Amino acid sequence: MKSPAKTICAVITEPSVAAARAAIKHAVGVADLIELRLDYLRDFDFNRPEQLGALLDEKPLPVIATCRAVDEGGQQAIAEAVRVRVFAEALRRGANYCDIEAAHFDEHAAAQLDPSRLIVSYHNFSETPADLNAIYERLTRRPAAIHKIAVRACDITDSLAVFRLLDRADAEGRTLIAIAMQEAGLLTRILGPSRGSFLTYGSLAHGHESAPGQMTCEALRDLYRIHCLTPETQITGIIGQPVSHSASPLMHNRAFRELGLNFVYLPFAVNDVGEFCKRFVRPATREIDWRLRGFSVTIPHKTAVLPFLDETDETARRIGAVNTVVLEGERLIGYNTDAHGAMAPLDARIDLREARCAVIGAGGAARAVVFGLRERGARVTLFARDPAKAAALAREFNVAVDSLEAIAASDAEIIINTTPVGMLNHDEGTSVVPRAAWAGRKIAYDLIYNPRETRFLADARQQGCVTINGVEMLVAQAARQFELWTGRQPPVEVMRAALEK
Ligand code: NAP
Repeated sequence: MKSPAKTICAVITEPSVAAARAAIKHAVGVADLIELRLDYLRDFDFNRPEQLGALLDEKPLPVIATCRAVDEGGQQAIAEAVRVRVFAEALRRGANYCDIEAAHFDEHAAAQLDPSRLIVSYHNFSETPADLNAIYERLTRRPAAIHKIAVRACDITDSLAVFRLLDRADAEGRTLIAIAMQEAGLLTRILGPSRGSFLTYGSLAHGHESAPGQMTCEALRDLYRIHCLTPETQITGIIGQPVSHSASPLMHNRAFRELGLNFVYLPFAVNDVGEFCKRFVRPATREIDWRLRGFSVTIPHKTAVLPFLDETDETARRIGAVNTVVLEGERLIGYNTDAHGAMAPLDARIDLREARCAVIGAGGAARAVVFGLRERGARVTLFARDPAKAAALAREFNVAVDSLEAIAASDAEIIINTTPVGMLNHDEGTSVVPRAAWAGRKIAYDLIYNPRETRFLADARQQGCVTINGVEMLVAQAARQFELWTGRQPPVEVMRAALEK
């Protein structure tokens, strides 16, 4: 394999020459290369390409000049002959490459542009075509220094086709940029350079992306540490749908960096957990050669993953859900670190034996909480809005059950909210417990971590209760996962600090 370039290319998508100049300066701190998207410029006279001097004469980084055609994602229609003149002028003024779409690469363009400084590209914003190999073959017939293929990943499995292209280009000694766009293709943006892609694109700020799924250069450089990734890097991540909002990459990647471990933690947007286990995970059947160590499992796969595992630990079996998978040789082993995570903040504050605990809600998190409380000998009553669901959970773990309205009259000293009521963008500012019901209780524990102080916690604090938010559980469950994958003591404070940032 060629030595990977591991290049982050900042896309400059500003609407004016002045803003583009400022963005180029900003890129110096976070990127290795710049893609100047000329088609975004609204104040540039394309008939006077010598104006490019303002952008290229003092370029601080190597530049790709791109003036994308509208049918492949360009922002304005520019006549072909004009575009070619602009490209030729960009190269003359020191742009290192210009990027022209294969579909628009005619004899006129070929005669004007030096192939050793050309990127010839193919974009598909609607799908990853089944005949990607044929597209690659047609594309690479065009003489160019670099070929580029960017397709839309409709499913994470589309990323496999992109990784296969990178392997093929490597075997054929070609330089390729290959990307699967959208959330499902995020792994190609992160792992691409360590698997042979000439570069990965990043935006300079949220809202300045030039394609769906593009991350910021800062995230690529500091969070995912693109420059440190190698084929030997051990891969972990989180499977869920959606996953791009997850805080777990922040915690785990910071922790890997802190301990100097050659690990990375990626977002895996997975629709079909069985397909993912077969095509990405299980060594005998997977279609990608990588050093996968394991992954976190979140909604909606915590139960769905069970049939695809070889073994589950006692806690996961009893809770009936897995939030962590470890790959041990050929075997997939499931764990549940949610119960440990949920209990850790309580264990640090109180002896739970015989403690009177009210658990509100009867969903997935409630199962882990009730399991953890029962293991510690607490006296638990479940309060939930769906009596049938509550009764089933209560029976399973041998705890009492009552209606949600009965919470105010309960004698619980600890009340734990496992519902999303009070969460950001979800009944924010409301609480499942009336304010007056807090008087005389000891601990209020809300599993929600955003916002840090929910109405539930604010009311309890005002009544003198000790309050605990969901950050502590989030960190504690992740810390245990970290230990399972790395065998190392997790840097818990670093993980917590990563969330605060
Ligand atoms: P879930 O399986 O969907 O369960 C949610 C529970 O809340 C269900 O019992 C649901 O009742 C109940 N509920 C929803 N809206 C309600 C309302 N308006 N009034 C009363 N009850 C309501 O979700 P989950 O995975 O358990 O997660 C629940 C919460 O815990 C989320 O806010 C999540 O962010 C948080 N959590 C935090 C951590 C952490 O590490 N801090 C970990 C896991 C979960 P029905 O069954 O009747 O719909």
